[in-house]
Amino acid sequence: MSVDCIFCKIVHGTIPSKKIYEDDDVIAFNDINPSAKVHFLIVPKVHVDSLMGCEAQHQALLGKVLLLAPRLAKEQGLAGFKTLINTGKEGGQEVFHLHVHVLGGGYKLPQN
Ligand code: 5GP
Ligand code: ZN
Repeated sequence: MSVDCIFCKIVHGTIPSKKIYEDDDVIAFNDINPSAKVHFLIVPKVHVDSLMGCEAQHQALLGKVLLLAPRLAKEQGLAGFKTLINTGKEGGQEVFHLHVHVLGGGYKLPQN
């Protein structure tokens, strides 16, 4: 747990979220400022700043997070989706707790 981290606070329930999935290792919740009709974040419960902070010990966790993307996307009614992992300030990351965006349906941003 990192004291000033918004996503750690969501993991610990001290900040509310629209949770769509939770297990011992991972939580997924809707993005507060969605860029598509469906836009949720898959977040490991352990605090790791970004993909650049990941090491060999996180390999299974990263696999788990990615495998959850299609499963949760299907549950949210999507037949296809985009995934996005912003990494570092230069990568557009704003919340420095590793997360994967899953977006689908009615995109509000230009598609590249
Ligand atoms: P990043 O740019 O770090 O990849 O994306 C951070 C995402 O977290 C943004 O899409 C932003 O809307 C979302 N976000 C920031 N604060 C909160 C919050 O308190 N609750 C939820 N549900 N999403 C948040
Ligand atoms: Zn955190």
